[in-house]
Amino acid sequence: MNRVVVRPLIGLVLVLSGVIWAAPVQASPTYRVGLQAGHWRSSELPDELGTLRGSTGTAAAGIREWEVNLDIAQRTATYLQQAGVTVDLLPATVPPNYLADAFVAVHADGSANTRLSGFKAATQWRDWSAGLALIEALRAEYGRATGLRWDAEHISSGMRGYYAMSSRRFTHTISTYTPAAILEMGYLTNPHDRRLMTQEADRLAQSISTGILGFLRSKPAAGWPAPPPLPDLRAIVHTTTANLRAGPGTNFGIVRVVGRNRILLISEVRGDWLKLYSYRRRRDRWIHRDVVRLERISEEPPQDS
Ligand SMILES: [Zn+2]
Repeated sequence: MNRVVVRPLIGLVLVLSGVIWAAPVQASPTYRVGLQAGHWRSSELPDELGTLRGSTGTAAAGIREWEVNLDIAQRTATYLQQAGVTVDLLPATVPPNYLADAFVAVHADGSANTRLSGFKAATQWRDWSAGLALIEALRAEYGRATGLRWDAEHISSGMRGYYAMSSRRFTHTISTYTPAAILEMGYLTNPHDRRLMTQEADRLAQSISTGILGFLRSKPAAGWPAPPPLPDLRAIVHTTTANLRAGPGTNFGIVRVVGRNRILLISEVRGDWLKLYSYRRRRDRWIHRDVVRLERISEEPPQDS
């Protein structure tokens, strides 16, 4: 090889190595996180969530839950933004089909038993590794920072079925593809928990932020697996009341009575009878198709960007 050829080659190698060096910097991911301050601006909730309008959550010692939620959500947002994360600070109303790398709804609990203390977090009604990883990350960091007990026995169906995560029932919810958690930071009715949330809000916010960042960084290189499939058929009750029965026929006993506009997810159609979808429910429930209006739900998977 003579010198005339070698020089351009060295130049090419330098250019290529520059490209290789630059690549990881350009590929540094930017994340979007939705932080919802529970009950904040709940008077603005849309009609489909009208029953929740004006709910300000629990209250104790002159402190209202939504104020505590908003304060800690704002502080958490600041920490995440400092780490380069794009944050949407969300009120009670979530934009329709909200898509993000994580969604965390921040709440505080209340109980008539003022000795009850502890925190908990729940994800949607299904087994999706992304949601479970988010819960675990929050549990570890928040638990370490606060020393609070993990209050597992009070994780309710109301938490798992949280309206903002119920994309099959309502429009103003997160996308099925958004890993999500509702975090109950402690009991506002308990003096110790309340002191943490009001006097040490910054430490709490920092731990929530650290938990979320840990979750974001744990995302597998190929992305999270798709969430498990949910039914794509829903029924809306159009009569004043409707009976839910134990089987597909009037010869089966009535299990429950529901009211007008109730939204039910359907997993099976058998003649005139519709079977309700449920997540680990022990007993089947059926409804007659004459008392409902049926709707198809469609949700396109998000495009990779
Ligand atoms: Zn709440």
